[in-house]
Amino acid sequence: MAAAAQAATGSVMTARIDTAALIDNARTVAARVAPAQLMAVVKADAYGHSTDIVAPALYAAGLRDFAVATVPEAVALSQLLGPDSGARILCWLFDPAADLTVCTRAGIELGISTPEALEAAIAAGRATGRTQDVHLKLDTGLGRNGLSLSQLDTVIERLRTLAAEPSTAAGAQATTGTATAGTARTAGTAATGTAGTAEPPASAPVRVTGIMTHFANADIPGDPATVDQLHRFDTLYGRLQAELPHALRADDLMVTLANSPAALSLDPVPGSHVRAGISLYGISPFEDKTAAQLGLTPVMTLTSRVLNVKDVPAGHGASYGLTYRCERDTRFALVAGGYGDGLPRIAGNRGDVAIGGRRYPIVGRIAMDQMILDIGPAVDGGQVAIGDEVIIIGDGTTGPSAEEWADWCETINYEIVTCISARVDRIAVGADAASAPGDRARGGDR
Ligand SMILES: *Cc1c(COP(=O)(O)O)cnc(C)c1O
Repeated sequence: MAAAAQAATGSVMTARIDTAALIDNARTVAARVAPAQLMAVVKADAYGHSTDIVAPALYAAGLRDFAVATVPEAVALSQLLGPDSGARILCWLFDPAADLTVCTRAGIELGISTPEALEAAIAAGRATGRTQDVHLKLDTGLGRNGLSLSQLDTVIERLRTLAAEPSTAAGAQATTGTATAGTARTAGTAATGTAGTAEPPASAPVRVTGIMTHFANADIPGDPATVDQLHRFDTLYGRLQAELPHALRADDLMVTLANSPAALSLDPVPGSHVRAGISLYGISPFEDKTAAQLGLTPVMTLTSRVLNVKDVPAGHGASYGLTYRCERDTRFALVAGGYGDGLPRIAGNRGDVAIGGRRYPIVGRIAMDQMILDIGPAVDGGQVAIGDEVIIIGDGTTGPSAEEWADWCETINYEIVTCISARVDRIAVGADAASAPGDRARGGDR
């Protein structure tokens, strides 16, 4: 696994990833949701924290259930954890026109949100002669991905048809590849009648191993939309059990509804598993609750260094557009880090960063690669020197939290950490990293 990790590039800005905090957060969430189990969402390079660091650390701590959004993410994760890891990997966002056999071969499970996606999964199962595991993703109110009621009708009918077909994957390909629902049933009967000459039974092309839905407003505890979605899910789940009694019998059936906010606020937590992302990274999904109040510790510390310190006279401007002019003689400190590293330009003249435990304002526009701080006149800002470490994102005490950045940038903390760009090395620190010999520095480049 370590071999798959990227080498650090030596970037000035680095994201330290505290794997001990990560594992603590995972245990906190797991304890909150028990007896439901934790499925770790590590999409978008583990929300900017580096899947190469996060997934193996969680795996080493005993976690086996992972989710990502896309097929390339799922394939990369499968390769990272290795073919014999025993990990379950689910992804749910893909083009049904794409070749999904890579998923079938790697045992990657697919969230199904359209009849077209189900056909693609069936095609992948048939093309490989194996079974593609699928989770039926139900739209219970979010209106984003997931099966609508009429799409669910089509999917149920298709799965019933499929169950009636001959169970030989190769035979099914030959006899019913282009068959309609009606003739497929006939073909099933015919195959039973000629069992002596049929191929040995093989697995069905698809198997339902999960039912899932996603909440719209779980970050607002008590919101009636969540109650509505829970009711709709129960109704649809009951219907699936009635209409697909065999399909839902898998003993490893995974029923997942809750994202982090639902996992941390609903009582009881619905489903067999929760799909938790942001909470694992020590970031609060709630507007009015901090990570600390939830017992979570931020995993990422984003650091940089002071690359220049200079005296400037009163009236001097800072950065493009000269949108800031200092009122008195002062000192500017130049810090590596800009929107090319994922720091939103809008934070210029709004945000601050920490040096030596003290906050200094970001003045003028944030550029692609660098930003300027007004550190005050020599007597005041004199303790800042070239080479000093700058905490750009910390836990709110060490440096500004992702929530503070989100406020300055009129967005959410999820976006702040996820957008930290590939130019920034991710360096693993923590119990696991400290006990390992040699340089454990790893960079994320995805
Ligand atoms: C991103 C995502 C999650 C994880 O949500 P968090 O709020 O980060 O826990 C769960 N399910 C789906 C479908 C998602 O897209």
